[in-house]
Amino acid sequence: MSVCLSTAAICFVYGAFSLEIMNQMSSTNDNAPLIDPFGRVHTSFRISVTDRCNLRCFYCMPEEKVRFRPRNEILSYEEIERFVRIVSRQGIRKVRISGGEPLVRTDLWRLVERLSSIKPIKEVALTTNGMLLSQQAQKLKDAGLSRLNISLDTLNEDTFRKIARRDGLDLVLDGIAAAERVGFENIKLNALSIRGLAENEIVPLAEFARKRELELRFIEFMPLDAGGQWQTDDVLSGGEVRKILEAALGPLVPLPRGDASLPAVEYRFASGGGKIGFINSVTEPFCDQCNRLRLTAEGKIRNCLFSKEEWDVRQFLRHEDCSPEAVDVQVMDRVQAAVGQKKAGHGIGTAEFTPPQRSMHQIGG
Ligand code: SAM
Ligand code: SF4
Repeated sequence: MSVCLSTAAICFVYGAFSLEIMNQMSSTNDNAPLIDPFGRVHTSFRISVTDRCNLRCFYCMPEEKVRFRPRNEILSYEEIERFVRIVSRQGIRKVRISGGEPLVRTDLWRLVERLSSIKPIKEVALTTNGMLLSQQAQKLKDAGLSRLNISLDTLNEDTFRKIARRDGLDLVLDGIAAAERVGFENIKLNALSIRGLAENEIVPLAEFARKRELELRFIEFMPLDAGGQWQTDDVLSGGEVRKILEAALGPLVPLPRGDASLPAVEYRFASGGGKIGFINSVTEPFCDQCNRLRLTAEGKIRNCLFSKEEWDVRQFLRHEDCSPEAVDVQVMDRVQAAVGQKKAGHGIGTAEFTPPQRSMHQIGG
């Protein structure tokens, strides 16, 4: 009953004259769009399914002595499905599964199947490092996964080892090939742009992606590394990456901007083919168009990658004494609270900015 104390009235009345009150309560939240104080309408949730990973990329995780959450703290597939069903009533239409490495969760396709079956959800996407993709690509496709982003920072085995602190480039390449083979369309490759590391990778990656007709997106390095080593100078800006690309492969032509809430600005090569995206989160923040919220693997809502505050929903999703309606109301209230306190932007580069306490693998990329 402890969690229900704040909702004691709801739980109490459930036994007595619950229905009328429940109906009133749900009607206050149901279908209310998630609009923040700056007028941004939120339709997308990034859901982390684990803080564990089979790599140790230096920009995201410590190399050793990583303290993972105990398994009983991590939301089950049932709980995630329940959560998504609830937020779909608040206008969420797109879900991206991430982590940690999502494919280390047993039978992730089962979650994809559950989420794809939720009527209002139009898109279930996945971001993966690709290491386990070759075994799982077909099942994920069959389960209804709509989109796939695969992280690939380099085509050089030594550089891969330097970044990921593990071997595995061949597995990632096998994963990409499997994803193509089973028929995923619009696969995107994500490459992180870090000064001193990425410069020599940019052109080979672009040629690799162009040949395979995959979109390649360059993401600016953000202050989310576990060691807190990030410095502004480490960011190889999208503008610099573009110059390197154009010097080697010729001019890039901007593509018309479709959905303004999508973070990448896209180009094609003037000489034909290739799709290159730039996610310039640091040098050209797109916070004013942000429509995303995040759920951590242990069930906390974050309204920004860099948010200092979190809103717990696991306590409600796990509360068996409350009526389903009361749980729904509590979860919706939490989501609304998170949205209501969203800031205008991440503030990187301002005097007030401090990086979050948690690194990327704990938040969910
Ligand atoms: N393990 C999966 C993967 O690597 O694709 C999913 C989780 S990972 C945290 C999601 C994305 O976040 C990856 O594309 C990764 O490159 C990116 N990422 C990790 N740390 C980052 C950082 N400090 N700045 C910018 N992007 C980062
Ligand atoms: Fe793992 Fe992805 Fe983080 Fe690399 S970026 S350590 S693959 S979660």
